Amino acid sequence: NIRVRYAPSPTGSLHLGGLRTALFNYLFAKKNNGTFILRIEDTDQSRLVQGSAKNLEDCLNWAGVSYDEGPNKPGECGPYTQSQRLPIYKEYAQKLVDSGHAYHCFCSSERLNSSRINLKNKHSMSLYDRHCLKLTKEEVDEKLKNNESHTIRLKIPSEKVTKFYDLVKGKVQFQNQLIDDQVLMKSDGFPTYHLASVVDDHLMGISHVIRGEEWLNSAPKHIILYEAFGWKPPQMCHVPLLLNSDKSKLSKRQGDVSVDAYIAKGYLPQALVNFVSLLGWTPPTNNTNTNSNNSNTTQQQPSEILLMKDLIDKFSLEDLNKSGSVVNLDRLDWINVQHIRMLMDGQIDKEMLEQVYNDLLKYPNQEILDQKLVNDKEYLEKTMQCVKERVHLVQDFLLLILPFYFRSINYTTDDAKKMKLKVWKNDSYENMQKLIEVFENLQEFSSSNIYNIILKQSDNNTTVSNQLMSNLRYLLLGTPVGGGIPVSISILGKESTIQRLKRGLE
Ligand code: GLU
Repeated sequence: NIRVRYAPSPTGSLHLGGLRTALFNYLFAKKNNGTFILRIEDTDQSRLVQGSAKNLEDCLNWAGVSYDEGPNKPGECGPYTQSQRLPIYKEYAQKLVDSGHAYHCFCSSERLNSSRINLKNKHSMSLYDRHCLKLTKEEVDEKLKNNESHTIRLKIPSEKVTKFYDLVKGKVQFQNQLIDDQVLMKSDGFPTYHLASVVDDHLMGISHVIRGEEWLNSAPKHIILYEAFGWKPPQMCHVPLLLNSDKSKLSKRQGDVSVDAYIAKGYLPQALVNFVSLLGWTPPTNNTNTNSNNSNTTQQQPSEILLMKDLIDKFSLEDLNKSGSVVNLDRLDWINVQHIRMLMDGQIDKEMLEQVYNDLLKYPNQEILDQKLVNDKEYLEKTMQCVKERVHLVQDFLLLILPFYFRSINYTTDDAKKMKLKVWKNDSYENMQKLIEVFENLQEFSSSNIYNIILKQSDNNTTVSNQLMSNLRYLLLGTPVGGGIPVSISILGKESTIQRLKRGLE
């Protein structure tokens, strides 16, 4: 029975690394008919950030990484927010005290600072000197009775070595003598991460702990806790870090790290999920054509372009990489373009259409747009299809489709005047006049008919003239970039095409 969890601390907005951890847990659960739990680890009161838990949930929702049990989806193991489980941690901490695996510590922070035993190791760590371990039961009871401020510490069996098998790292072992007697309960009555995490993972029946490598050093402490409780630990799986291009740990230095920023920039959720999935995981390459894009798609997608159901289908922990992954944002752009194309192959994605429609409605200069067209969603869909190859982000659509909506093209800017001069100079004026005539006599205004006409009109009749194409684009749409000209012309339709060409030649 596979049960996994994503257990963020609400200390800020969801970042790429968090999304990846959540996603790997989600994929593993879905692949194995398991359960994916969201648990909010808010026991460090000093680090809480208002609104952060909501942001985490909103971002996960946006990405389609939905949980089966969690704060807003009650299950048998709730509550799923740690600050609502304080009596549970208190009870389990007491159990450890009773069984001799933990002890009360009354040391002041001043005493702790001055008395720590320095370990001469590369991390220059220092250990608690176990001052309070020497207190008798009577002394402890007396202090507790007097309400003396205290913590509860785990008594690390320092003579032992803690070994476990990690699904990514393989065999791992730690010398217990280098591990500090961890605080389990703080003086404010809140548990520390270690106690809360282990108690909850056990009570929530977690089978696999899949999390970032930065938690690997905590794992032996957790294993020791499991042993102290007499519980079986879950399988450990520590996923390698995300890195900047210079191989340092991922930071804001190289670009945005919060998921919010990518939502705001207009990346598709499918694309960000796909991108993040490939950071530290390599999909198997044996069966190449299991992409679930439309069957009427003619173009085959690159094998790393995967939708959520493909990811679930292909995911396995064995294919996680052993070393860190560099976050390459150019790759994200490329993946986003692939997803936009995939969504536009066959039928266009409804949500994307609505988004662009809203952008169109919000365009400030509505008076220069033909309002009849603005409200025609079929027309919108056609224009989007036409320019899709030029789109990197969904909001790029607006600029590219606007010329199709203009009541008339504005040739009055300096650039436009220069362009117009070019059309005249290039001796294409007469060519254009002829073209207008041919268009006027054309019955079916289809892109293939239009293509053939342009071909005939080109100098050598075998390849279409680029000059003619760019002149047409300029006269019809007033822009140097856009979709294919024959398609663009067929979308504009006969009346508008002829009208725009004539005006352009005035
Ligand atoms: N609360 C920890 C975090 O913020 C969770 C670590 C774990 O998954 O055990 O990432």
